[in-house]
Amino acid sequence: MPGLEDLYREIILDHYRSPRNRGELAPPAVRAEGHNPLCGDEIQVYLDVKDGIVTDIKIGGQGCSISQSSASMMSAAVKGKPIAEIRNLVRRFKNMMSIEEDDESTPPLDESKPLGDLEALRGVVKFPVRIKCATLAWNTLLDGLDQST
Ligand code: ZN
Repeated sequence: MPGLEDLYREIILDHYRSPRNRGELAPPAVRAEGHNPLCGDEIQVYLDVKDGIVTDIKIGGQGCSISQSSASMMSAAVKGKPIAEIRNLVRRFKNMMSIEEDDESTPPLDESKPLGDLEALRGVVKFPVRIKCATLAWNTLLDGLDQST
């Protein structure tokens, strides 16, 4: 039986080799762009938002396996979800990456739903230079959500 680290490596490679929701969306879809100059990663996030729900999402860009697989997992995790739920998920992901942005005014995190494949990126926290790779797609997503509301 393979160890957890092997399983996680497999999930990351699978998303890197077969990225989900790859492509573009035509306007009026929101387009947000993110760069991680430390690694050379680039991400474009396209969002269709209707009645507070991300009805469709597409991902473009290129970069290292961590940045691209994180973007793929992110797209699969947020498609069809309400914005409030997505913002909660972004906070949980950043928390997992040991980025604390909470203050007293932020509501408590809803941790009732499993993170699924996203758990595979938990090990990245041990490599601080890669945390920016893993969070790039998520910060770009937030940028897109801010544009759409
Ligand atoms: Zn990278």
